[in-house]
Amino acid sequence: MKPIQDSLKSLSNNGGFQQRYEQIKHEVLNHPEVRDFINNHQDQITSDIINRSLVKLYEFINQSKECNKCESLETCKNMLQGYHPLLEIKGNAIDLRYDRCPRKVMNDEQVKYKSLIKSMYIPKDILEASMASLESDEGRYDAIVQIDDFLSNYEPGKRLQGLYLYGSFGVGKTYLLGAIANELARKKVASMLVYVPEFMRELKGSLQDQSINSKIDAVKKVPVLMLDDIGAESMSSWMRDDILGSILQYRMLENLPTFFTSNFDFKGLEHHLSYTQRGEEEKVKAARIMERIKYLAKPVELKGKNRRY
Ligand code: ADP
Ligand code: MG
Repeated sequence: MKPIQDSLKSLSNNGGFQQRYEQIKHEVLNHPEVRDFINNHQDQITSDIINRSLVKLYEFINQSKECNKCESLETCKNMLQGYHPLLEIKGNAIDLRYDRCPRKVMNDEQVKYKSLIKSMYIPKDILEASMASLESDEGRYDAIVQIDDFLSNYEPGKRLQGLYLYGSFGVGKTYLLGAIANELARKKVASMLVYVPEFMRELKGSLQDQSINSKIDAVKKVPVLMLDDIGAESMSSWMRDDILGSILQYRMLENLPTFFTSNFDFKGLEHHLSYTQRGEEEKVKAARIMERIKYLAKPVELKGKNRRY
């Protein structure tokens, strides 16, 4: 703490020690917050206590409080960045307690909030989407009503269907998922958005890789999962049955809400899932996956213009 050290140094070097001491004491005791504190604790504070605590009081008046001397958290000028002092009486002296300053509290909240939304392969701007920014035009009216319904009824462990949002390219399906994730974060609910085609591509390339197991595990267990663009991937029967199938199975059993978006309606997706990469037709297995999706999510069509152009 430079100012105090400097002042103390000049106190001891200076021949006018007493004069400087009185000057600092005067400055400290005339500081409005110090005055208030002393007034409010008149019955406990003696002049002895004040003399003994002068260094602390001097530290106090030189620190920024309620962020009044700082532009930002990064440029916080306090001894402990992000913490501001409060006066308190400890034994027979006045001491300082450092608490988080308003900017630090806000910053910590934001970090916590951001950590509630995880994503894999989703563009960053989507994660800024909010329900408030959505105009509720006709093409989306149904979806917005259902989403509101979900958000007001969500409770951990309660069986609640997610949504299967389908519609053509660019109508805003992924954007809606981003808005749901943000709304959930506001309620302190963790969620994860996964862009399915890229997830599957990565799975294919990393069969031996242990990290993929922890990714699959995270997808399985996150409180609210959003699988974006299912049906746009090329899926092997292994991915369909062993990966997707087991993720969905787990989420059904644990009552973990799951959202999907797709260009296909249920029928179209079932068809897509019947033809795996090798071109084999596997209707029964596709039907089994569809059953799980239908159990987990209610279909809602999104209509409207392509917002990409
Ligand atoms: P989809 O997933 O249906 O193909 P997107 O969600 O990616 O469509 O939306 C297409 C583009 O339009 C994106 O750039 C997205 O940010 C933007 N967009 C979608 N919905 C909205 C909205 N309600 N307000 C503002 N921008 C939107
Ligand atoms: Mg999309």
